[in-house]
Amino acid sequence: MTQVIQVALPVPLLRLFDYDCSTLPARGARVRVPFGKRVMVGICIGAAEQPQPYQRKAVLEVLDEQSLWPEHLWQMLTFAADYYQHPLGDVLQHALPALLRQGEGASYQATTLYQVTNAGAAQELAPLQRAPQQQRLLATLQQRALLARDIRIEEFSASALKALQSKGWVEAVTHVPAADTQWGFKIAAEPLQLNPEQALAVAAIAAATQPRPYLLEGITGSGKTEVYLQAMAQVLREGKQVLMLVPEIGLTPQTLRRFQQRFDVPVVMLHSALTDRERLDAWLDARAGSAAIIIGTRSAIFTPCANLGMILVDEEHDNSLKQQDGFRYHARDLAVVRAQLEQVPVILGSATPSFETLNNALQGRYGYLQLTERAGLAKPAKHVVIDMKNQPLKAGLSKPLISLIEQQLAAGQQVLLFLNRRGYAPALLCHECGWLAQCRRCDAYYTVHQGDKQLHCHHCGATQRLPQQCHDCGSTQLVGRGVGTEQLEQTLTELFPAYPVLRIDRDSTRHKGSLAKYLEDARANKYQILVGTQMLAKGHHFPEVTLVALLDVDAALYSADYRAAERLGQLYTQVAGRAGRASKQGLVVLQTHHPEHELVQDLVNNGYGHFARTALHERQLTQLPPFSYQALFRAEAQHATAAVAALEFIASYFNEIADISVLGPLPALLERRAGRHRFQLLLQFQQRGLRAQVLRHVLPQLEQRAELRKVRWSLDVDPQDF
Ligand code: ADP
Ligand code: ZN
Ligand code: ZN
Repeated sequence: MTQVIQVALPVPLLRLFDYDCSTLPARGARVRVPFGKRVMVGICIGAAEQPQPYQRKAVLEVLDEQSLWPEHLWQMLTFAADYYQHPLGDVLQHALPALLRQGEGASYQATTLYQVTNAGAAQELAPLQRAPQQQRLLATLQQRALLARDIRIEEFSASALKALQSKGWVEAVTHVPAADTQWGFKIAAEPLQLNPEQALAVAAIAAATQPRPYLLEGITGSGKTEVYLQAMAQVLREGKQVLMLVPEIGLTPQTLRRFQQRFDVPVVMLHSALTDRERLDAWLDARAGSAAIIIGTRSAIFTPCANLGMILVDEEHDNSLKQQDGFRYHARDLAVVRAQLEQVPVILGSATPSFETLNNALQGRYGYLQLTERAGLAKPAKHVVIDMKNQPLKAGLSKPLISLIEQQLAAGQQVLLFLNRRGYAPALLCHECGWLAQCRRCDAYYTVHQGDKQLHCHHCGATQRLPQQCHDCGSTQLVGRGVGTEQLEQTLTELFPAYPVLRIDRDSTRHKGSLAKYLEDARANKYQILVGTQMLAKGHHFPEVTLVALLDVDAALYSADYRAAERLGQLYTQVAGRAGRASKQGLVVLQTHHPEHELVQDLVNNGYGHFARTALHERQLTQLPPFSYQALFRAEAQHATAAVAALEFIASYFNEIADISVLGPLPALLERRAGRHRFQLLLQFQQRGLRAQVLRHVLPQLEQRAELRKVRWSLDVDPQDF
């Protein structure tokens, strides 16, 4: 008998769609359906309770016999759709690998596996000393066969592979992965002897009778990874899986190597270098339970796991865990929800916890584990604040900083200079009349780039040739105003000609693989001076760096964004954590025009922990998150009045409700971008439950309104950026 079923489709509408179907597919199975003039892949949600009395179209094909998702994950996905008031169809699509979104079968296909031949297995490694790439690859292949994807992720050389094949030591075989692969738990290397704080942390997690979230707050170099490893070991020993979220996949080869050295279990990495097919295979491995450890960036939180035992979120404060467009979810928050649904512990690790997580730990909602000492020999760094007022500057470098750099270099050590502004200069100025080159489509100045001799708008991506003359007065006296990383690099090369300078930013690492190579060169001490944007601030380990300097972070001290202080505290502490990781004394230098600023004083004198508690207290006094719950509507349009009118219309739905404060419409921090005017409306609630209830009630109504059809608008629940 024909059924009427509800289907979630990847369209920007909160509602579901009814279709006729000859059978009732499983909830969570894919169906192919006609939609307008197109055919779409949607997800069956179940039988329609009250089918609409109109002519329905019929399902063309049922693609899956069973749900694609285990029950707990399905619950998390439907929770997320409701919490973020985002269309369920779009949420579910997010949670699928591209091939499944396109309707491919949820099954393995044959792939290539590389393994040693008999000759290769017997081959000694020593004769390959001159070909270290071949040596490393053969050594690994003698331990385990590698899939094509492993070769790429683990950064083995393709030519080394060819060479080994032509020598007859390695062969490529066709391999059909099987979903039921069992892995036995084996420790490949002995764990380190834990220090007392680490031991306490591992024991607390192991001894818990009820799984719960933990904040693992450990200063840089305190050995958080060792705590992860030993906490994981217990989970893996029981045959359960570990899901780990990391902020940036570029960091994972290091992590991956440490995991592989420790555990002899299959690790799946959801790496950006995977093909769509490999991504699907990895997803199937995780869902079947044949992957023991799954590592990925934020979207990995949607990976199904047959037998999940623990979730780790490394650098839980990192902003990349929040998706900033479309389905605006926070992967850390969903990790906590998922862990609760699956009844497993979740460990949120950071040297600089987000205020949300810190507050949860301080209130006792999360277990609070602290590592306050550096593991091994490293000593804490010394802090120096340089007052820049009235200082002559060379490309943003003050005299005292230049002499500190000189001393470190002379002692044979590395220095790392942090400047969060790429390009040569953040503006182009006419020296005669004061004209500044401005992007035509944004409220922003062009950045001067020497690399390609162009002006770049960092907001809309527009570029143009460097002008020779002022557009206002025709003068040729055009000069860069301010300092970017290109200029800093150039000046440092002039100041210290004997020492090679390496610049790491988005421009210098545009080519694939170049970041990994630069980082390796930096670690190998091929460069004494490292210059970079916040790309350099993340968990990279440079053992020879003793001096770290932040050149210009003053803008954050007086920002309109209430999160700016939190970010500055995190950035300062993360960057400072790069200094003196080995046995040498580290030095952290902060240049500022506001040395007396209380934030600066608190950070430098008392450290992040104290700073964060003070700032949290202020948030409490001002009733800002995490002591209130926000929802931000954004609207943009060709004309400012249209965006404002749309938000005023939205505001009218909330103005009458008690216990909501409505702020706006106000212009966004950058009002005009790429030719569109952007405004926002901030709602603040005292209770999370009230927010959910109100949004659930209002959003479906808004989506029906013709008044809102002409502008682009969106909702951001728990917004991070303004
Ligand atoms: P974090 O992730 O907290 O910055 P890591 O886990 O990378 O720190 O540890 C920093 C260094 O200290 C690493 O080289 C690690 O091998 C070492 N280490 C960690 N724990 C111990 C320990 N218990 N004993 C000796 N060395 C340790
Ligand atoms: Zn001019
Ligand atoms: Zn622009």
